[in-house]
Parts: sequence; C-alpha cells; structure tokens
Amino acid sequence: MRTQSRITVAHGDGIGPEIMDATLRIMDAANVGLTYDTIEIGEKVYKSGHKSGISPESWEILRGNKVFLKAPITTPQGGGYKSLNVTIRKSLGLYSNVRPFRAYPPYVPSFFPHMDVVIVRENEEDLYAGIEHQQTTEVVQTLKLISQPGSEKIIRYAFEYARAYGRKKVTCMTKDNIMKHTDGMFHNIFDEVKLEYPDIAADHWIIDIGSAVVAARPESLDVVVTLNLYGDIISDIAAEVAGSVGMAGSSNVGMTHGMFEAIHGSAPDIAGQNIANPSGLLNGATMMLVQMGRADKAELIQNAWLKTLEDGIHTGDIYRANRSVEKVGTKEFADAIIDRLGQKPTKLAAVKYNEDVAISVSIEEKPAKKKELVGVDVFIDWRGESRDADEIGDRLLNVASTENLKLKLISNRGVLVYPGGIPETFKTDHWRCRFVNPEGKILNNSDVLELLQSVQDAGFDFIKTEHLYHFDGERGYSLSQGE
Ligand code: NAD
Repeated sequence: MRTQSRITVAHGDGIGPEIMDATLRIMDAANVGLTYDTIEIGEKVYKSGHKSGISPESWEILRGNKVFLKAPITTPQGGGYKSLNVTIRKSLGLYSNVRPFRAYPPYVPSFFPHMDVVIVRENEEDLYAGIEHQQTTEVVQTLKLISQPGSEKIIRYAFEYARAYGRKKVTCMTKDNIMKHTDGMFHNIFDEVKLEYPDIAADHWIIDIGSAVVAARPESLDVVVTLNLYGDIISDIAAEVAGSVGMAGSSNVGMTHGMFEAIHGSAPDIAGQNIANPSGLLNGATMMLVQMGRADKAELIQNAWLKTLEDGIHTGDIYRANRSVEKVGTKEFADAIIDRLGQKPTKLAAVKYNEDVAISVSIEEKPAKKKELVGVDVFIDWRGESRDADEIGDRLLNVASTENLKLKLISNRGVLVYPGGIPETFKTDHWRCRFVNPEGKILNNSDVLELLQSVQDAGFDFIKTEHLYHFDGERGYSLSQGE
C-alpha cells in the first residue's frame, strides 16, 4: 500500500457524493499526490442486476489499485442482495477494522471530554460468515466461526497498532464465560500474545460489562480489540458517546489491500441538501494517507480540520448556537478546511503522525494437533406425542445405539433433558443426542455412518451431526448445561 499513488474511489449513495467531493477537494488542495480511478457501487449497481453491488470490471479495478476510498452506500432491503462491505472485506482479506473515536470538547459537545478510544474489530469471521440454516419447523441456526489464525492476526494487529501510535493499553472484550471454545480461544490467544508486549498494559472485560464501560466510562479505555459482532455494536455506542456519528472514520486493512470509509451510512434523510458532515470520510481518508506513507499530508489535513472545528465553523449535526460561530454546509465546511491548510489548532491538541507507522503482522502456521474422535452429536427433528424426552431417549438408547456408540444424553436448546430431565424445561422439535463410546475407545467415521443408519432404521429424522473430538488430548466440545 505504501508504494501506491493510484487509488480507487466510489462516491456511493445518499450523502456519499457530497462528502466524497468535499474530501477529494481537500486532498487535492493538500497536494496528496494521488490519482483516482472512479468506480460505481451501491444502489444503482444492485438494481442493474449485480447482486453484490459491484460490477466485475469495477471489482478488477479495486483489486488492482489495492487502496479504496469508499463513500457510504445504500443496501437495498431483501431481494437476495449481499452486503458489498462484507463481500469486499472478506474477499480481499481486510481482517482489521480500526475505528478511532475522540471527543473534541468544547467544540463538539460530549459527555466524555477526554474520550480517545480506538476499537480494533476482527473483520472477517464470527457470525458474519452468514452460514444460516433452518433445521426444523421451530429452529434456525447461524454458525459462529472463529479461527486461530484469524484471532491471532487481529490481536497482534491491536498490539502493533498500540505500539505504532504510542498507546498504553489494549483491552480485549469477549463473552468467554458462556462461549468457552470460540470466545475462549480468542481470550486465550490474547493472553499469550500480550506477553510479547510487556510495554503495553493489557486487560480483559466480558463484553456485556465492557459495552457498559464504553457507554459510561470510555475515558478509561485506550485500544479495544474484539470479535466482529461485538466490535460492530460497541463502535456505534462509542461514536454516539463521542459526539456525532458524522465524525468517525475507519480503516479496513489486510495484508495487501485497504478500504477506508466513514463509519456512518448513506443518510438518505439528508441527502442532496449540502448539510452532511464530511468529517467521517475525511478522517477515513486521513487514516488512508498515514497507511500510504503520506503522514505529512495526513497531518496537514487533520490539523486544518481541527483548526476549523475550534474556529467554530460547524455543520448542522455539531452546530450549537452557544458554542459555534457559523453554521455551514458540506461545501463551505470543506472550503474552511482548505483555507486553513498549513495552520494548526491552538486549543485542541495538534496531531503528529509517525512517518514510519506501517503496521505489519505476520503469524506462523501452527502444527496440526492430534485429533481423536470420541463421539458424535446427532441432531434430530422430533415431536412425538408430547415431546417426551424419556420416550426419544429410551428408543435411541435401546434401539438406535450401536456397539461402538451408545446414547449418553439428550439436550434441547443446550439443556439436559435425558436422562434425568425435569418436566418444567421447555422443549422444541430440535434434539441434540450425544453418542459416545462408554469405554472411551477412539472411533472413526465408519462408526458414525453405522450409527446414522441405525438412527434412521429406528425411525428418526436426523438433520445434522457434530463430531466430538479431542485435540492433543483436550476436549474440543462443550458440555451440555446440566451435564
Ligand atoms: P446512517 O448512518 O446513514 O444515518 C443515521 C443518522 O445519522 C441519520 O439521521 C443521518 O442523517 C445521520 N448522519 C449520518 N451521517 C451523517 C453525516 N455525515 N452528517 C450528518 N448526519 C449524519 O444510518 P442508517 O439511516 O441506518 O442507514 C442508511 C443507509 O446506509 C442504509 O441503507 C444502510 O444499509 C447504509 N449503511 C451503509 C454503510 C456503509 O456503506 N459503510 C454503513 C452503515 C449503513
């Protein structure tokens, strides 16, 4: 990315064209030395038949240029349209989503004048895999996929980011008290990686109380690293408590490509009125310039922007009669920044970027672990007469079990219902039936196939299986509640 001078830009939908024009005018006035290939993405492209929101020709330009400055787009509802953002992030391996949130008191009112938090969000995995299935009349599922290399990459990125930007602490947020294998792995890797960064403090919050901290005490946080969904949610909370959703920019960066944008959407409610705040996209562009080795230009623009804010020249979303000097439109706000290129703020802290801020993360492939099959969970769609757990349990134990795989337990929505369930437990038509070898013998897939045949012969409709493995002797599956 550092050697590029040609980038792709897309003007997007809604307020996109207005804020992109403002941003490009400011960058040109600052002589950033970039040339632009403009592509069309978003609503029009979706509606012209490209379900991904981008044409194959534009996609090739995007891949070739490696750096993409993107205005927000409108994703049409329904109709099988795929989120273009998710497609770009995942196809180009943009694993790190960095979202800085700062308060600019007193110019932009915020409850937390000292807030200065950077959220580093894993950008490719988690529930955004979008692998969903309806399995029974009553139950649908989505798969939460977390990988070891995906987690290690983003956690290392957060620590490297903290070092490169002079940050003091990295806080990890997970829900590993409940999801011990997925979130637990993320937390474990965090605990291992932090040892390599003794110069940076590290702590961990459970995500629910962590979100409350973002909302109520954001000044106690510095860099936060978290999984995809949690990062998405807490960054909107952070944007709101910092002052305005129109202010924050974000970078989506991988090993080879980068996409830079505002965190807000296309704001169709204010489109075409020259009232949108272009700061979010401009801050995204500033992050891009730093990553492209143009720290001097990023600094020039950022300091002119800060000077404009402190001079009280504000767009409508941050204008307050008692604090602002002049309410301006998108174009006039950009003009005010251009007029101040070369000036520094005197009350807000001026920024100084490190020229050599390129963050590179490399991870080593771990050797494969010894994998041993010790059982299988067979999921069954069944209602019976009255969803009687003893009925399905006794039949699976006595009729369906094979020599090598015997029914150990059944759970319904994770709660043990057989043997020894209680009548108060609500039961759906989705039964997880756990079969293991009572002597602890190591099994193979033929044992599973034999079991499935036997389950079918006993008259049950199996809908999926999950193998129970030990990896290097450690249990690789969760116990059922009550097991
Ligand atoms: P939004 O962020 O577009 O707007 C939320 C509110 O914030 C609106 O009241 C809007 O007027 C205001 N706002 C947003 N940006 C502003 C700015 N720069 N200046 C002043 N006010 C601003 O969220 P939404 O209304 O939920 O979504 C609108 C569309 O944007 C949807 O189609 C959504 O899918 C899309 N979206 C796109 C992206 C993206 O392209 N990265 C991100 C989020 C949402």
